[in-house]
Amino acid sequence: MEAETTIFDLDYILYSHFHPDHTAEFVPLIFATKYPDANRRKLPLTIIAARGWTEFFRGLKAVYGPWLELGDGLLRFRELNNQSNDFKKFSNFTLQSIPVEHNPESIAYRVTSSDGSSVVYSGDTDYSSNLIELAQGADLLICESALPDSKKVNGHLTPSAAGEIAARAGVHKLVLTHFYPDCENVDFRQQCRKTYNGPLLLAEDLMQIEVGT
Ligand SMILES: [Zn+2]
Ligand SMILES: [Zn+2]
Repeated sequence: MEAETTIFDLDYILYSHFHPDHTAEFVPLIFATKYPDANRRKLPLTIIAARGWTEFFRGLKAVYGPWLELGDGLLRFRELNNQSNDFKKFSNFTLQSIPVEHNPESIAYRVTSSDGSSVVYSGDTDYSSNLIELAQGADLLICESALPDSKKVNGHLTPSAAGEIAARAGVHKLVLTHFYPDCENVDFRQQCRKTYNGPLLLAEDLMQIEVGT
């Protein structure tokens, strides 16, 4: 609502992997769609994720039962390959995905609109040559940068590592996101500038970024 839209306007949700910080809002979203006085979903909602999503959903259903059911075919699932590249065409965009270095089901996405503009989202990942391949020449790369350079952990990136990926992919703009509390009071721009010279933004809630023409 703060973004001046409603949950009924969402027609696709792309999950990068199943960790709770990425999927926990799925349950309240579906439940809110079922409120009796809010029976306003006309568009089907398609959930896109890597293989394993259906099983993950079955687990949620074991807990929540019919609270997670939407009638009339309004809830749909599309599973993508988590072992290699995948490609799907939708009515007004195409979707490419590629496995990244985090969980077995972790994939990064490239969304290309009908006018050719492209956004790549890393999901959570460690340094990934697959991500560099997927992001080649993208208009925008939204890349995780969970921790400062001095606190690098396995399975996550830092500003300079994300910058290196962006530079090698030749993206036109980089947005760093997924900041852990250790990122407070750290100069992320400066750390990212060690490896990347292009346009750079640090993500904030409700940020809107225009891409393409
Ligand atoms: Zn994760
Ligand atoms: Zn995460």
